[in-house]
Amino acid sequence: MNALAPGAVIGILGGGQLGRMLATAAARLGFDVHIFTDETDSPAARVAARTIVADYDDAAALAAFARGVGVVTSEFENVPAATAEALIGAGAIVRPNPRVLAAAQDRIDEKTLFQSLGIDTAPFAPVETRAGLDRALDAIGMPAILKTRRLGYDGKGQARIMTPAEADGGFAAMAGQPAILEGFCAFEREVSMVAARGADGAFACYDLVENVHEGGILRRTTAPARCAGEIGARAADIARRVADALDYVGVIAIEFFLMADGSLIANEMAPRVHNSGHWTLDACACDQFEQHIRAVAGWALGPTDRLCDAEMTNLIGDDALAWERYAADPSARLHLYGKREARPGRKMGHVTRLFPRG
Ligand code: AMP
Repeated sequence: MNALAPGAVIGILGGGQLGRMLATAAARLGFDVHIFTDETDSPAARVAARTIVADYDDAAALAAFARGVGVVTSEFENVPAATAEALIGAGAIVRPNPRVLAAAQDRIDEKTLFQSLGIDTAPFAPVETRAGLDRALDAIGMPAILKTRRLGYDGKGQARIMTPAEADGGFAAMAGQPAILEGFCAFEREVSMVAARGADGAFACYDLVENVHEGGILRRTTAPARCAGEIGARAADIARRVADALDYVGVIAIEFFLMADGSLIANEMAPRVHNSGHWTLDACACDQFEQHIRAVAGWALGPTDRLCDAEMTNLIGDDALAWERYAADPSARLHLYGKREARPGRKMGHVTRLFPRG
């Protein structure tokens, strides 16, 4: 595919805040955006040129979407494989390629991919039955974390098993779904690498950042991470190896546990723009959203230099009610996602504070 010229249409699967910020970045580069989502009145739809609201298995709607766009990308990793296949069958170019979705949707496939590339992961074992959980606990030891293999996000579908007495409850929490048992990593910090690979194979990455989660949900990202630059270089090399192996096009994020000895353990990857990259909107010349649009449109990647230090805080649930206070604070850059209702645990917006480079 040649580079898409301004005026072309970029299709985005998903209507959430990531789609909204991607659509805004695309508009800045002169593209129109069509959103495909199963949600009416979505945050992305309200900034897009056109939205198709239909189920992800609606073949006729997918074909109509595919006909109207120059390239299709997605803002969430749980796009059903059949949806991506239907789009390709209808003639669409899908970036990143759907092989990537398969690897990112199943925690065992994901860790197996990491290990095949020589990237460290927590020890893990598949769990399908209660007896299988006991075998996995014997092999891996405790404490451990049991997670559903698929469709887990923001800490949902997870149970910590600290003692044998917690095994029954943990197994029940999986509600019969195939699971993975992971050894517990007593990490010093959580860090993530947001990187991009262009259609020509070029690679660019942002500085390694540090993340604090509360209740399984990202609360705060600090850029840069407080650790030796050599660790950032290692994380970048890992991201590059993963992106190259998958012939990836677009922004990709990899979350790591940073251990006390300086080693990096890959936890998971997101084949999309990532919450831990939101700070780039205010602190980098080319933010992650523009970078993703550039990549999927076949453009040259933009500069990822960090112009200042930054701290991004998610506004979750009722936090966003304090918007007037943030709006009046000259040190805070406020981003709101236009969600109609502030439910507990729902990401409503974020605030980024900028500081001179340390
Ligand atoms: P995940 O859904 O895999 O990103 O997990 C959500 C959060 O749970 C992570 O950001 C960590 O804080 C914690 N966590 C997940 N897996 C592990 C692990 N193997 N060891 C220690 N903490 C973990």
